[in-house]
Amino acid sequence: MVAPEELPSRKRIFIGLLLLTFILLLVLVGILGWVGTVGLRQLNPDLPLVFQLLAGAFFLLLTGIVASLILTVMRGREFFFGRKLRGLTIKVFLPMMIVIGRLLGIPRDTIKKSFIGINNQLILSRQLKVPAARILILLPHCLQLADCQQKITTNIENCRGCGRCTISDLVELARRYGTRIAVATGGTLARKIVKDYRPRLIIAVACERDLTSGIHDTYPLPVFGILNRRPHGPCWNTSVDVQQVEEAIRHFLQA
Ligand code: SF4
Repeated sequence: MVAPEELPSRKRIFIGLLLLTFILLLVLVGILGWVGTVGLRQLNPDLPLVFQLLAGAFFLLLTGIVASLILTVMRGREFFFGRKLRGLTIKVFLPMMIVIGRLLGIPRDTIKKSFIGINNQLILSRQLKVPAARILILLPHCLQLADCQQKITTNIENCRGCGRCTISDLVELARRYGTRIAVATGGTLARKIVKDYRPRLIIAVACERDLTSGIHDTYPLPVFGILNRRPHGPCWNTSVDVQQVEEAIRHFLQA
């Protein structure tokens, strides 16, 4: 589902940034611990020991979480706290990794692409199987040919199937497997579609930015992200590898 040559580099970027985030957090905890210990000694001579024990427990917990995340990413299967790891990655580590990556001059899209790959791997590691009717294929409006007059955002079945863009193939794919399919023009409509359809899994097609925010906004719902192709630049007559979408459906489909 991801080109084999792409995954190791995504893993390297993710693990590298994760380790830097981990070190930064430890340094912060160390500084806070030292400052806190000095201040607490004035209040009660026993308090610094309590504080150090708490800092030690935090250190062990953080080390366990980061080690578990790295093992899951490297081995491709769930270790400890699999579901919680995705949440921590999305809510805690990703924002810090983007800041650290920016300071190191790594483009934001490269970090997000790496995050999307790791998010997908964490979902794949759960061996999730979902009935077809609870799988939603969520598409961006820019997949539709710009000069097409069909109103596919209100109902994707309005596509006449002329084959000039990938929408017709994707509609046919959803019909064949019995999954839900919809087009969103932005985050607000995407959230409404998710609320109305109540899927158990989303296979989302979008750019790095929209996929990352979609994964973030819909957590804990699993969102398997597939990047669109943008031969004419962003948001204009984009396309997607339909076979990649089909492989994702087949992987998650309950027999
Ligand atoms: S396949 Fe044809 S009718 Fe359907 S959205 Fe694309 S251009 Fe429009």
